Formats: sequence, C-alpha cells, structure tokens
Amino acid sequence: MPLAVWLVYGAVAGLIFGSFANVVIWRMPRGMRITHPPSACTACGYRLLAADLVPVVSWLALRGHCRRCGIRISVRYPLVELACAVAVTLMVYFYPSFSAVPLGFLAFLLLCVSIIDADGMEIPPALLCAGAVVGIAWVSATFLWPERLPDAPVWHHALLGAAAGFVPLAVCKKFRHAQLCAVIGLFLGWQSMLLALLIAFASLFIVRVTKRRWVPITPHIFASVLFALWI
Ligand SMILES: [Zn+2]
Repeated sequence: MPLAVWLVYGAVAGLIFGSFANVVIWRMPRGMRITHPPSACTACGYRLLAADLVPVVSWLALRGHCRRCGIRISVRYPLVELACAVAVTLMVYFYPSFSAVPLGFLAFLLLCVSIIDADGMEIPPALLCAGAVVGIAWVSATFLWPERLPDAPVWHHALLGAAAGFVPLAVCKKFRHAQLCAVIGLFLGWQSMLLALLIAFASLFIVRVTKRRWVPITPHIFASVLFALWI
C-alpha cells in the first residue's frame, strides 16, 4: 500500500485517539471512570450524541458552543485532537511498519501526560502502567517475530533505556516523571532515551532561564522524544 494511504489511516486513527485523549485528560487525574458516565456538557448536562463527538468537525459545526445551552466549548478539545493526529501521523511517517502502532500509542500517551502535567495535575499511575504494558509487550514480541519488528529495541537495550530514563529524574526527586521516563526508555532503548533526556533538559533550562518562571517538564520530554524517534 502507498505511504500516503498509511498516512491517511494514521491521521484518522490519531483524530479518534485524540478524542479519547480529551476524555483521559479530563477524567483520569480527577479519579473519574473513563467509560462512565457518557460525555456530557459540563454546564447543562446535555448528553453528547454521536454527531457531537466527531473529532474537530463537531466543534467546527457547532462553532465551539454547546448544542443545547450555547456555552462556549474550549478550543483545546479540537486542538488536542489535531495534535494527536499530527503525532500519530508522524509515527507512521517515521516508521511505516507495525512499529507505528506501539509508537503511535506512545505519542498518544505523551500527549495526554503533557497536558495533564501542564494543567498542574498529578500524572495518573494507570496511564504509566498502560504505557509499561504496551512497551514490554512490544519488546517481548521481538522474540516471536524478530524480522517483523526491526524498530523495537532489543530487550537489554530496552531495560537499560528504562534505567537511563528513571535515574536522572529520580536523582532530581521527580519520581512520577522518572517513572514516565522509565516507560519511554522501554520504547526507545538507552541511546535514544539519553539523547531525548539531554534535549529535554537543555530546552527546559533555556526556557526556565529566559522566562524565569515554572514550566512543566513533560511537554519538553514529549517534543524531545519525537525528535529522538525522527533522527
Ligand atoms: Zn450545555
């Protein structure tokens, strides 16, 4: 199949996962269930129909307002959907193989965690567990289908990657971020993990020195992981 077709599939999958990301970002840090209750307007309780849940399109069609009470719906919702579509499409472009599935999931996870962190909320352990399960499954699958998974790190590189991600942030007493980077290290292997951390720390340092204020760590990690997966 031509790459352009795979990219379209990636974009559509990214939009759908982006819509799910909005649910995860709002509900998980608040201890709410993901599947129940169904999505509804936070102001009037109007339960969203299928037509209200089409990524980006519904927001544009309703011009960013609730269908019933007319309250403004944040532009963040379609932007998260678009960002997820771009990130997943990039994974398909960088890795036009089965590897795009676990790496697309990693991009989805990092997008969710970046926004949760930027909101000043605690990174939910369940998200990290989901990432660890997918990462371990991907690396383990190389034992069964080594020729089909050429992009997955070999198991000892993945374990070293987890350690390389965990230790520097644990030393800085950022234990939840250390756990996140341990999960990322499983996907990247130790070389790319160290590169991503180096870039993330450098960009964080520059931004914090120039802006002289607190900035969240995770968006920098997300951007540097995308860069490390690209080169
Ligand atoms: Zn409403």
